[in-house]
Amino acid sequence: MNRAYCVRMQSWMAKKKIGDLQVIGRSVAGVETVVAAPELNVCFDVGRAPTEIISIDNVCLSHGHMDHSAGIAYYLSQRGFIGAGPGRIIVARELAQPIQALMGTWADIEGHHSPGEILGVDAGEDVSIRRDLLVRPFTVNHGAFALGFSVIEVRRKLKAEYTDLSGPQLVELKKKGIQIQHRIEIPLIAYCGDTALGAFLDDPSVCNAKIAIIECTFFDQEHITRARAGRHMHVRDFPEVMERIKSPDVVVTHLSQRTDMRVARRVMDDTLSEADRARITILMERPPRKPRSAAPPPK
Ligand SMILES: [Zn+2]
Repeated sequence: MNRAYCVRMQSWMAKKKIGDLQVIGRSVAGVETVVAAPELNVCFDVGRAPTEIISIDNVCLSHGHMDHSAGIAYYLSQRGFIGAGPGRIIVARELAQPIQALMGTWADIEGHHSPGEILGVDAGEDVSIRRDLLVRPFTVNHGAFALGFSVIEVRRKLKAEYTDLSGPQLVELKKKGIQIQHRIEIPLIAYCGDTALGAFLDDPSVCNAKIAIIECTFFDQEHITRARAGRHMHVRDFPEVMERIKSPDVVVTHLSQRTDMRVARRVMDDTLSEADRARITILMERPPRKPRSAAPPPK
């Protein structure tokens, strides 16, 4: 597994090779969440629009909380500077109009309009992002207008009954209007945004994804009530998550700023079986902290 950090001002992005794909991102609860799969030309949430995601054409916005969505206007405006076409924001239908209005306000402030497609969708409404790739939104458990997104590869395969036929014979069948291929869906990534446990964990486009990206905001045993109140995952939910999600790779995001990475890893080790623990990558590993100087002793 590769591990590297891009340092840009105060920001940094973790970079991980997971299966065949590179997943990059930064996700700290309440601060910033942006996760991207550059090879698929998809970004999940936009955070504060770090440089690394500006060239990506599709942003799937999971919900409107500022730590996930603040960079929308900056993302759309910066694309002009790098010669990219208008970006596309895929978001719950109810949030499309407020985002359009936000871009209108920015046009008033800046004196010019940053083009972009704000595409409002409902759960289950597929969006094609490449000839062989689609994004399928699904409902998560984080209040109104919150969505997760699966990126699904679509392949067409010759039906078994026709595999022995010659090329000209297949052409003949096609001419007669016979459907000789069937459609196969391969879920590549399922990004669940902010969410508590929910029915989506059993959705085939989520639980069968090659990579599932799931939050875990709380690791402290005393914070279970806070997790339930805010509709977030607690590490205590993870044995169930790992049972319902069949993905060989599960990427964990959205740790709180106060969670020490070493503690988070230890708690994961204690909470999960060895086999489940081996499927998990915590995306947000932080650079070593500088020692605090002259900090007053706690009272
Ligand atoms: Zn969040």
